[in-house]
Amino acid sequence: MNIDEIFSQLGLNDAQINSGTLQVFSPIDGAQIASVKIDSSAEIEQKIDNSVMAFKQWRNVPAPRRGELIRLLGNILRDKKQALGSLVSLECGKIYQEGLGEVQEMIDICDFAVGQARQLYGLTIASERPSHKMREYWQPMGPIGIISAFNFPVAVWSWNTALAVVCGNSVIWKPSEKTPLTALACQKIFDQAMAEFGEDAPANLSQVIVGEREAGAQMVNSKKVPVISATGSSAMGKIVGTQVAERFGRSLLELGGNNAIIVAPSADLNIAFQGILFGAVGTCGQRCTSTRRIFVHSDVYDELVPKLKRAYGQIKIGDPLDENVLVGPLIDQQAYDNMQSALQLASENGGLITGGERTLVQQYRDGYYVKPALVEMQGSVDNVQLETFAPILYVFKYTDLDEAIARQNDVPQGLSSAIFTRDVLEAEIFTSESGSDCGIANVNIGTSGAEIGGAFGGEKETGGGRESGSDAWKVYMRRMTSTLNYSKELPLAQGIKFDFGDL
Ligand code: NAD
Repeated sequence: MNIDEIFSQLGLNDAQINSGTLQVFSPIDGAQIASVKIDSSAEIEQKIDNSVMAFKQWRNVPAPRRGELIRLLGNILRDKKQALGSLVSLECGKIYQEGLGEVQEMIDICDFAVGQARQLYGLTIASERPSHKMREYWQPMGPIGIISAFNFPVAVWSWNTALAVVCGNSVIWKPSEKTPLTALACQKIFDQAMAEFGEDAPANLSQVIVGEREAGAQMVNSKKVPVISATGSSAMGKIVGTQVAERFGRSLLELGGNNAIIVAPSADLNIAFQGILFGAVGTCGQRCTSTRRIFVHSDVYDELVPKLKRAYGQIKIGDPLDENVLVGPLIDQQAYDNMQSALQLASENGGLITGGERTLVQQYRDGYYVKPALVEMQGSVDNVQLETFAPILYVFKYTDLDEAIARQNDVPQGLSSAIFTRDVLEAEIFTSESGSDCGIANVNIGTSGAEIGGAFGGEKETGGGRESGSDAWKVYMRRMTSTLNYSKELPLAQGIKFDFGDL
């Protein structure tokens, strides 16, 4: 599918993709593929007001009927999977298979949300007072502001939108300034679902704001947007989380990771090898869950690490739309520079580096392709504290599991973690209260590639938010406790007497 076919299948016309000042470049070759219009501050304010109006209508539509809109959205995504997956590859550089996988995640969360629309359950709670009932209701919140990162340009929107919409909210999305085209394509798909749905869906139920961080900041600081779901770097989350807290809003933060895998002596080294490779070099190391560190037991180090190094030397790097390629480009030159600085630092600290250099320069002068880097850390260097958003895998040797878990946890971030072991005791320790401190702790599966059914997110500087499956829907709703008295008395809780007597 060529670029014009992709745009045409996704309903993106010339006016939308060639009419503005925000230049969009494909990381594949650095070529400009579009220039889209940036929303002015006044336009953003208008969109926020539109969203408030849409919310006031939508909250009255019964939740199972709201689910029908998301069912239609999922069906259209099925039809557009190849086109949208291709645009994801084109705009953010991940390989086509992963682009398709990202769209599949959108379809999966739509299916999940349709079911959830009939399960927005509250509790009934025993009252301490006679002839009283206590109930819990979940009510919609209002416009949900979504800020997303470049590396999951469409899935993050859908995780939030599918649930927020069945919960009775409207949404406003500020995508990464590096990937506005996929956002405009998703808006088209949403509009199509709205048209098929019928008139009880209000205009502007979902809207896109195009702009840089200031556009996001305007939404973050608006009291009309009660929930901000922000995905991106921890540096961004620190600012956004503080600003939302200052106005007593609610934030859902999905931030950086520094994910590790422990390979125990009993591990199945074949699956450990595959899990590490996909986690470390997949998406060119640009997933929040990418494997950044491995702790390999000294008994298996000399078998596993040379094998990884051989694979690093042979992995196919190139155009992400070529089905034989496993590693596409970095997003831009800044990402490349950050990678080189991190490698320089590792080398100064005594790390032994395999790979890491730029490649395919002749073919793609303005595309930043790199050989994934594997860095064997020497005993004295403790840990790597910063997330570098590039394919660098730091390798450590360990002898004692408690020590490996402690070193794994000894970073500011707490997103994803894994252990490869066939020792059931080790697996149970890893997932116990004294094991991994991350939001995700896998056994015999790598750190990346979560399913939508579980709650996704992490602790510490990863932000503490959870989205997607499990009970993550509750973040888009407010909890209301209601006590009802069906007696002719007015007993007070805790047996308090407040007797005024007769008047
Ligand atoms: P980024 O922080 O540079 O930008 C993310 C988004 O935040 C963009 O839309 C940007 O415009 C916006 N933004 C930045 N500063 C802002 C501000 N002050 N106010 C409002 N909006 C602001 O991140 P990126 O480079 O696009 O993505 C990579 C990062 O995202 C990595 O750290 C990665 O780990 C993280 N990430 C986390 C998850 C997760 O679920 N935990 C998922 C994907 C990516």
